[in-house]
Amino acid sequence: MNRNDISAIKALLSTPKNIVIVCHKNPDGDAIGSTLGLYHYLKKHNHNAQVITPNDYPGFLKWVPGEDTILKYDSQTEVSNKTIKDADIIFTLDFNAFHRTGQMQPALEASKAIKILIDHHQEPDDYAAYTYSDVSMSSTCEMVYHFIDMLDDADNIDVSIATCLYLGIMTDTGSFRFPSTTSTTHRIVAELIDKGARNAEVHNNVYDTNSYNRLQLLGCALTNLKVLPELRTAYITLTQNELRKFDYKKGDTEGVVNYALSLENIIFAAIFIEDKQEGIIKISLRSKGGFSVNEFSRAHFNGGGHNNAAGGRSETPLDATVEKFLSILPQYKDALNHE
Ligand code: 5GP
Ligand code: MN
Repeated sequence: MNRNDISAIKALLSTPKNIVIVCHKNPDGDAIGSTLGLYHYLKKHNHNAQVITPNDYPGFLKWVPGEDTILKYDSQTEVSNKTIKDADIIFTLDFNAFHRTGQMQPALEASKAIKILIDHHQEPDDYAAYTYSDVSMSSTCEMVYHFIDMLDDADNIDVSIATCLYLGIMTDTGSFRFPSTTSTTHRIVAELIDKGARNAEVHNNVYDTNSYNRLQLLGCALTNLKVLPELRTAYITLTQNELRKFDYKKGDTEGVVNYALSLENIIFAAIFIEDKQEGIIKISLRSKGGFSVNEFSRAHFNGGGHNNAAGGRSETPLDATVEKFLSILPQYKDALNHE
């Protein structure tokens, strides 16, 4: 995003507009934090702003300031379509291609609104009038902070904006531990606390509100953990029956794959989750160091993401999907052992 883009966006935002802000399907902390952070900012400037998510999000995000104003496209389709149709500007946050918005894709493609993309995933599509893409960024929330700063408006960040942006930086950096966490990230986080973000409260709301069933499901996942020491890989499976047994709720499996990656000498971790409703196996991949799970997922599992965290999917049954994974892995033996 260059100086001309910023001037153009400043001019665009100088009078009240109808603005829609969207994120990817199955929103995470960064998706909700960045869209709502921007929402509060735009409301402050008298815009008619509306966040629309493709679908619902986990309970541990149902405390975020402004969360109750969000429209969910899959259950509020009519009003969402009308809002998208009336939009002058659409901000697309935390995703790189329209297909990541699921059912919302056609409405976004049909819209004549000016699109502004802010995102840190690899290989963004070329649909936006203004693209702010930076794969080195810890989170889209960090980018929304920079975006507001580029508009010379960081002084206007209030407690709601600060809380939302803190949330997404925290979740996407694994609480400030992933390599994408820079000294600038920490400076921004410090600034957000100064603006009123209650850091301990945000951590507590997201990480310390587990249900008993969720912990039991984690126990089941850890029991299913398999380790391939010679490939420095570990993986977890969860069947639909196991999810049902522990009364699975959206978000319950979030972060489970990281336990596999926490094993000594393991640099590649995967979780395969059976989703009978969608008829797919949802895959999450994580790595440490230079082994790119983004490339691995793009090559084999119809997904993508970042070098060290990516998602994917498979349309074959769970057993067959795991078999495919195990049959591909030996090709990567050298790469996995040179990390
Ligand atoms: P998760 O495993 O938590 O679903 O996703 C890990 C990261 O990869 C997140 O940043 C997520 O947005 C991204 N991601 C997940 N699935 C896909 C996908 O199909 N394509 C792309 N480009 N990114 C994905
Ligand atoms: Mn993100």
